[in-house]
Amino acid sequence: MLNLILFGPPGAGKGTQAEFLINSYQLIHLSTGDLLRSEIAGQTRLGLEAKAFMDKGELVPDAVVIGMIKSKLENNKTAKGFIFDGFPRTVDQAKALDELLNGNETPVCGMLSLEVERQELINRLLGRGLVSGRSDDQDQSVIENRINVYNDKTAPLIAYYQAQNKHFGINGMGTIPEIAERLKQTVDNIM
Ligand code: ADP
Repeated sequence: MLNLILFGPPGAGKGTQAEFLINSYQLIHLSTGDLLRSEIAGQTRLGLEAKAFMDKGELVPDAVVIGMIKSKLENNKTAKGFIFDGFPRTVDQAKALDELLNGNETPVCGMLSLEVERQELINRLLGRGLVSGRSDDQDQSVIENRINVYNDKTAPLIAYYQAQNKHFGINGMGTIPEIAERLKQTVDNIM
């Protein structure tokens, strides 16, 4: 199985590049942000609980997102592999993912870590907010909080995967096809 983590701060281009990777390598896309937004749209209890955190730019509790990923993995046992997008976002989530995948003897193959400058992130997110309708992209203070939460809670995952020799830094500045090509070269090396 080809299990890849697409990693990077909010606005790094994970969703855009995930599209390209799932098509190129026939992988299943698991985006916790998309899964949470669909719970919100369906007005489920989980969605209502998550929305309060997301509107502030805070992380949804680990147990909620780990439970969502667990059920997706159980429902896709014959997949060629997964692209994890927006997950894991904390060290506890990474440990839970390792346990879930190692239980199946299909560990994480690599973390593709998109590197983008802070000001470029803010510009991209504000631009997306104009067209996406995502309220968390329309408020500069929520955007800044998301980037700060990323730096505090999520960036430590770089060291977590470096310690396993699974971290691959990728320049996330440039055009979408340029970045896609860098990702492809990295994935081909991992395979
Ligand atoms: P972005 O990468 O642009 O922040 P996402 O769609 O990945 O967008 O996430 C949107 C929001 O959903 C996050 O700000 C957070 O509140 C919540 N979220 C998504 N994934 C996770 C996760 N793995 N753990 C906790 N919260 C999450």
